[in-house]
This record gives sequence, C-alpha cells and structure tokens, in this order.
Amino acid sequence: MYKLKDLIQLTPREVIKRSKSVSVTITRAIEDLDKSGKQFKKIQLKAKDPKGSGKTKVMTIKLYGYNKNILDDEVWCHCSCEYFTFNLEVALTAQDSSTVINSNGNMPVEKNPTMKGHFCKHFLAAVNQLRGVKFTGKKNYKTTPVPTEEELLEELLKYKK
Ligand SMILES: [Zn+2]
Repeated sequence: MYKLKDLIQLTPREVIKRSKSVSVTITRAIEDLDKSGKQFKKIQLKAKDPKGSGKTKVMTIKLYGYNKNILDDEVWCHCSCEYFTFNLEVALTAQDSSTVINSNGNMPVEKNPTMKGHFCKHFLAAVNQLRGVKFTGKKNYKTTPVPTEEELLEELLKYKK
C-alpha cells in the first residue's frame, strides 16, 4: 500500500498545477473497521473543477495506520474522474491502494507504463483539507476492536426483526 506522502510526492507537476482550480467538499468522514478488523478512517468527498469538465466527481479515501501524522498513513483511494480511471485505477490496485471499478482492468500501457501510483488533481486538491477532518466513529467497536462471533450474530439478528 502506498503512504499518503508517497502519493503526493509521486504526483506529476502538471497535475499539481491543474489541482489549483479544483474545489473540494467533504461529504462524510467516519472511523470504521474493515472485514479483517483493521481500523481505518474513511472520507468521502465531492470535487468540482470549473476549468475542467465542470462535472462533479465523487471520491473516497481510506486511511490506515493511525499515525500521528496522517502523511504516514497507508491509503486506499478512488475517484470517478477519467484521469483516475485510465491512469491510476489499475496501477494503484496493483499495490492494494485502490480497486478496479470503472476501468476494464487492463494495464495502462500508454497512459502510465511505469504503473506508478499518484493522485489525480481532485485528491491533490483535497489533501490539505484531510488534516483538519473530524471523524464520527462507531464507538462501541473502538473498545472491542474485533467483535466476537456472538456479537456479530446479535447484530445480524437485530436487523432480522
Ligand atoms: Zn479525480
């Protein structure tokens, strides 16, 4: 998995330039556990670039590691933009830092032959906002990080009623 600081450092200059006109809104920020019981922070965002297509892009970023500095956290990310789909989706998935959702899963032989992971302009524009995010969490999970089988069963039964 890539660390947040790696993805920032690997982002090409022209993408950094283009990120200046992007405006970003955080729509949701939660702390949660993945299937294996690993804690992560998940942030959902929307981005708009009046100088680009003007269409709203939807982004999700998950931060793993709970480091003092989020720059050291490991990242899973996804953006609905074309740049991400064709340059980054497969390259990041190869390092477990994304998932193939919008592309056909083929290697980006022309767009990103070295398969280097980095950010699209939308994520780069979002980076500064990530530091100040306040998360809402599933507090009951926090005290018992991995729920027991009985607890899981109890949860499931709740929804059956
Ligand atoms: Zn994007």
